[in-house]
Amino acid sequence: MALRREPHVLVVGGSDSSGGAGIARDIETIASFGVRTCLAVTALTVQTHEAVLEIHPIQPGLVADQMRAGLEANKVAAVKIGMLATAEIIAAVAAVLRENPQVPAVLDPVLASTSGRALLEASAIRVMTGNMMPLCRLVTPNLIELALLVGTEPAADEIGALRQGQQLLAAGLQALLIKGGHASGPRSTDILLRSDQEPIRLDTPRLAASMRGTGCMLASAIAAHLANARSLEDSVRKGKGFVFEKLKKNAAR
Ligand code: PLP
Repeated sequence: MALRREPHVLVVGGSDSSGGAGIARDIETIASFGVRTCLAVTALTVQTHEAVLEIHPIQPGLVADQMRAGLEANKVAAVKIGMLATAEIIAAVAAVLRENPQVPAVLDPVLASTSGRALLEASAIRVMTGNMMPLCRLVTPNLIELALLVGTEPAADEIGALRQGQQLLAAGLQALLIKGGHASGPRSTDILLRSDQEPIRLDTPRLAASMRGTGCMLASAIAAHLANARSLEDSVRKGKGFVFEKLKKNAAR
């Protein structure tokens, strides 16, 4: 069979049996932009919408094999990375990213579920920051993840978040999207930080909606737009708009 020429996003992440987050969300989001996906599963999880019951990481070599096969079979125009579970899986995924530097990767640094269960072993955080983040076109932490990644408490205000973001960027990152959804106040502000450009603030009204999997949806939407050859800033703006509309629909229910 010939290589499939239409752009694909290679989704690297965990399955969530409840369908609320993980690769099920990624695939439906990316498909909604008319972009195809191929898959590398990093972990099987048993979840309801309230709790994570079981986590079964996939053997790292198998994760890398899935990625290489997806890249060989399709025209992969972007990679979206979610749950990585262990330091060994991070190393395996990073090795494949290094072999394919022309493909932009969006990393949602999934550390824990909303219900509080760790989705990445604590000792792997440094490996993710040092070995994986510099390989990615964009990393999308929320305020809680950002604080954990720099080893401190969540910032109390936007200036504090910016300072933590600059600290993380200094680890050699290309770009960071700090998601302000966990803050309070009438507006929900995200900040796009790049080392060589002024920060860009993106804000929307804060909605009284809570929905699982919004982090997966945002990173997937951005990856779908990058796969369609849009710029990083444009992809981020469109991704944020997409999640806002989804939240609005959810709040209206
Ligand atoms: N399970 C998987 C496989 C995920 O990738 C994620 C987040 O990305 C979650 C669970 C957590 O989702 P939530 O915080 O919406 O519970």
